[in-house]
Amino acid sequence: MHSPAERQTACMDHEVGHSPPRGLPRVPAEEANELLSDLAGKPVELGENLAMSSRPTTCPACGSSKVEDALRYQLDGLGREEVHPIVWGEGHALADTYVCKDCAAGWIEGSKPHPITWVRPWRSEHMQGT
Ligand SMILES: [Zn+2]
Repeated sequence: MHSPAERQTACMDHEVGHSPPRGLPRVPAEEANELLSDLAGKPVELGENLAMSSRPTTCPACGSSKVEDALRYQLDGLGREEVHPIVWGEGHALADTYVCKDCAAGWIEGSKPHPITWVRPWRSEHMQGT
């Protein structure tokens, strides 16, 4: 289900919204084993307690499927002051952060379901420059 944000509040020029928890999609065990075996070049099997999560399939703000891993932007040298604090997780920077290419929303989502707080735009453009 593509659930729109339950409520939205204005925060300066950023829009902040909340979405119910959903958890990241799990990669089925057989598929994960196949993928890992391909990568390793030999048969690999995940233990029973291990699971692979894939990235979110939809944006919690607009429902678009154009979801991207924000870590990529960090590798491009994006610093803490250039992103909204909501999407900069304490300690893990942009590790669990995803962004929407359609509406520029950003949010943090892990493999365990937690309520989602998203912000858009996720970049703090106005804080850039001198
Ligand atoms: Zn979106």
